[in-house]
Amino acid sequence: MTIDQFNFAGKKAFVRVDFNVPLDENFNITDDTRMRAALPTLKKILADGGSIIIGSHLGRPKGVAEKFSLKHILKHLNELLGVEVQFANDCMGEEAAVKAAALKPGEVLLLENLRFYAEEEGKPRGLAEDATDEEKAAAKKAVKESQKEFTKKLASYADCYVNDAFGTAHRAHASTALIAKYFDKDHKMFGYLMEKEVKAVDKVLNDIHRPFTAIMGGSKVSSKIEIIENLLNKVDNLIIAGGMTYTFTKAMGGKIGLSICEDDKLDLALDLMKKAKDKGVNLVLAVDAKVADSFSNDANTQFCAVNEIPDGWEGLDIGPKTEEIFANVIKGSKTILWNGPTGVFEFDNFTHGSRAVADAIVEATKNGAFSLVGGGDSVACVNKFGLAKEVSYVSTGGGALLEAIEGKILPGIAAINE
Ligand code: AMP
Repeated sequence: MTIDQFNFAGKKAFVRVDFNVPLDENFNITDDTRMRAALPTLKKILADGGSIIIGSHLGRPKGVAEKFSLKHILKHLNELLGVEVQFANDCMGEEAAVKAAALKPGEVLLLENLRFYAEEEGKPRGLAEDATDEEKAAAKKAVKESQKEFTKKLASYADCYVNDAFGTAHRAHASTALIAKYFDKDHKMFGYLMEKEVKAVDKVLNDIHRPFTAIMGGSKVSSKIEIIENLLNKVDNLIIAGGMTYTFTKAMGGKIGLSICEDDKLDLALDLMKKAKDKGVNLVLAVDAKVADSFSNDANTQFCAVNEIPDGWEGLDIGPKTEEIFANVIKGSKTILWNGPTGVFEFDNFTHGSRAVADAIVEATKNGAFSLVGGGDSVACVNKFGLAKEVSYVSTGGGALLEAIEGKILPGIAAINE
């Protein structure tokens, strides 16, 4: 079932959203992007004449904690939706059930943070540090058992289930995946945000227009290894950027000064280079670097060959020759995936390379390429440059997007498709 096909008139929908928004010390929302992202779905249900039970998590509570209460976002949700949203102080309590049952068309009920219950994640809490393996196993079994009741109760509030929380799609939690079992295929669906995310990922993984270029940046090769290996089966060009550059450079015998490097991953870097060669993938590495004499925005800088970094200096961004090489590859591409900055973009003096990559992606997109930017810091990059609207799609899901690109089946997606 798709959300567009479904008529919510007279129906109660349980909508799992990702309202895990950042709050300041006075509980003011500092960035409401995630709330806005769910509005098209919520508004469609209300416009149809349906009612909504909203479930979400906020932060990583270890139990009930005022700090992580979703009541902090209630007022803003009212404003965004233009509806007086009701609140249930406990997602499992009698109050939640009564309020959900009494919902009339056009009404909305926000449930308290689902993660106030260990059952949402299905992980035991409060285990003593010296708990034995047996105790751990028993606690795990107990929470898995009570998770069934928890999930069933959430499902009982509604006639249909909508998952619009891509950010948690890689977790098999009660409200993100397990709950879907209680609804047949005609009564469960993705929300609009989730639909867009799923389509965008599908486009870069299964509907590839070539050449396909992936730009992998960020700090460590170890955190990107599975993605890189999966991408080697898909891409024509794999650009390696950011801190992981220097692990490759050192593995090839280059001098990298104080640049970030994972010495235990040198063999892995060589292995990835061999795999790329065997698969006919053009692995594009930096040739020059912008190096600094300390890890700070105000450090002294110079440009040098990536494999001739002087002692005491470290590479914090790519150099102009590399920018040109990367930009040329990107501009000639028809499918582009960007994950991770080319340098320490948090320091203004080391954003130039990431900006050059972003500009090239924008130009390729104007020329008809499909470009997907996702996974934490590259999203921060395009936002910082004000270019988010100039690429085809900016993913909202950090970990979820990366796992999807690694080729993993995301439980939240599978549960709807089953
Ligand atoms: P990741 O979370 O793995 O995508 O890494 C993103 C982080 O990598 C950002 O905070 C960057 O500052 C950092 N990074 C990128 N290039 C470098 C570099 N050359 N040296 C140190 N850190 C870097």
